[in-house]
Amino acid sequence: MNQSTPTYTPTGALVTDVPTLEVRNLHKAYHGNEVLKGVEFKVRQGQVKAVLGPSGSGKSTMLRLMALLEPADQGEILLEGDRIGVAANGRALPEAQLAVQRREVGMVFQKFNLFPHLTAAKNVALALTAVKKVSRGDALEQAHAMLDRVGLSDRADHHPSQLSGGQQQRVAIARALVLAPKVMLFDERTSALDPELVGEVLEVMEQLARDGMTMIVVTHEVRFARRAADEVTLFDGGVIVEQAAPDEFFDNPQHERTKKFLSHVH
Ligand code: ADP
Ligand code: MG
Repeated sequence: MNQSTPTYTPTGALVTDVPTLEVRNLHKAYHGNEVLKGVEFKVRQGQVKAVLGPSGSGKSTMLRLMALLEPADQGEILLEGDRIGVAANGRALPEAQLAVQRREVGMVFQKFNLFPHLTAAKNVALALTAVKKVSRGDALEQAHAMLDRVGLSDRADHHPSQLSGGQQQRVAIARALVLAPKVMLFDERTSALDPELVGEVLEVMEQLARDGMTMIVVTHEVRFARRAADEVTLFDGGVIVEQAAPDEFFDNPQHERTKKFLSHVH
């Protein structure tokens, strides 16, 4: 590749050589059971990576480690080239500093964790008033703008119990977006929602991808991976088996394990 020619994301942002988020040699075990066995993974600015793999292969664990929700046993996590999650001496960071770093990585959980007693707008605004010390008025204004972006401007004053599962999930997306993270991590358990709702959430995610958002999406949705992802990754047994552009990955997989996995999901 010609290094002197800059490339741009669809929104016109410069794509640098430094990945937005990268993990190197990531290891994690629970009770002696090694779940991540040296994972190497990166996403560049404006890229969308879809992560597929059988249940129990370590996909959610990788996302939790990237979001600094729990520490790695070994390996590095780099955000725009800077190591995060640990102090310079390799020790754990104090909680307050971890909290600051966590804001840069937006995570949409499988469980939405919305506050039941707050409206959609207030759930989103709370992220700003609590985490970024934004004034209530400004926070609500930004919350409405984010709800508009996920197609929920007419639901801003509804409580979570008055919203469908898909609408609740979109509020959770708005809540992550409003903090302007450098990368968004999605852990999709779409089977928990009915198919109609799945469509509306995937549509929002496809729009984010078109807007140039940097995203890592754990998904079972082959259609989403084909349409929205720049690259598809197969996880199996705590390692990455294959990574390729969607057409290559689905139509011409190189590894036996990928072929076997695809024979089950198609
Ligand atoms: P995936 O998301 O690919 O289905 P996970 O990352 O959730 O896989 O889990 C990988 C393995 O790690 C599974 O065997 C799971 O039981 C185990 N695991 C995940 N989190 C924990 C935990 N907090 N304590 C013990 N075992 C865990
Ligand atoms: Mg999972």
